[in-house]
Amino acid sequence: MKFNKKLENIKTYEAGKPIELVVREFGIESKDIVKLASNENPYGCSPKVQKAVTQIVSNMALYPDDSMLKLKSALQKRFDVTDENLIIGSGSDQVIEFIMHAKADSNSKILINSVTFAMYEIYAKHVGAEVIRTTSQEHNLEEFYELYKSEKPEIIFLCTPNNPTGDAIDSVDMLAFLEKIDEDTLVVIDGAYMEYGAFKDKRKSVAPKELVEKFSNVIYLGTFSKAYGLGGMRVGYGIASAPIIKELYKLRPPFNITTLSLEAASIALEDEEFVVNSISSCFSEMQRYEAFATEQKIEMIESYTNFVTLLLPENKNSTELADALLRKGMIVRDLSGYGMNAIRVTVGTPEQNSRFFELTEQLL
Ligand SMILES: *Cc1c(COP(=O)(O)O)cnc(C)c1O
Repeated sequence: MKFNKKLENIKTYEAGKPIELVVREFGIESKDIVKLASNENPYGCSPKVQKAVTQIVSNMALYPDDSMLKLKSALQKRFDVTDENLIIGSGSDQVIEFIMHAKADSNSKILINSVTFAMYEIYAKHVGAEVIRTTSQEHNLEEFYELYKSEKPEIIFLCTPNNPTGDAIDSVDMLAFLEKIDEDTLVVIDGAYMEYGAFKDKRKSVAPKELVEKFSNVIYLGTFSKAYGLGGMRVGYGIASAPIIKELYKLRPPFNITTLSLEAASIALEDEEFVVNSISSCFSEMQRYEAFATEQKIEMIESYTNFVTLLLPENKNSTELADALLRKGMIVRDLSGYGMNAIRVTVGTPEQNSRFFELTEQLL
């Protein structure tokens, strides 16, 4: 059977291995498996969320509230923006998909960082757009600007803090960059880890309200999958000027967020204390990774996220290390697919991290 030609160049996205798969493949009991591969919150989500969701399970027969009134009001309050500035997706992934279909086609170029979130490229390929990458591993806004001028991309993606490297852009630099971009070029600021970046260093903090007020061509993306601990519920959002949101809405399938997910995200926003505590534990545990890296003579990129990127020395291979860890029930992310001899490890609970140090030390 013939399929859409655009699919020929697309590789299926490989998500962090689920625990269930490791149980089956390696016969390890699920209680002995530690997953530090998908940047989930190791402390789960707020107990208030769990309680609220249990209380509405009887509503499952009914379609969700497609106006998303409760969650939209909560997000409006949280970010001090209006209803017209908001779109909610099944993960911020889905908002990226809307953006791509709204703005790009097979005549378009998309500008992204050399090493960044893999889904930008995959969605670009869905519409046949060409992907232009910078050469610098960290976001270099001067290089972005040069490529913007020479390549005239339809969309620019800035991922800050960046996945999978963990570094972040100073917001003053970002604002100065945005000033130089014409109104017809859409700039996406992916803030999937912004809660962590802003906590660690105020200079990395980007306020969606400020972006919306100053720029008609910028969209900010946030998610409930990381700091809020709701990866399994699939809720993300975009914040932008009303004309952008209006176009994205044309692509949104009805009922794209389930009733339980809408409730979970709404309640999660009410428990900031839970989120702040998780973030603060993450950064105190991250100090142990710094110490471990120094001790093992491994280079670690300074991280503004809930994961660390460990750059291995030449005589160690990241794929082999990740595979060996997997056989011991420790799931981490090999970054060889990104052209790096490195692994990405989500900062877990103190016990999970100790287990990682113990196993990795043995294997190195
Ligand atoms: C995790 C992640 C997302 C989106 O996650 P969803 O679960 O789809 O909301 C977006 N961007 C980056 C950089 C991420 O790491």
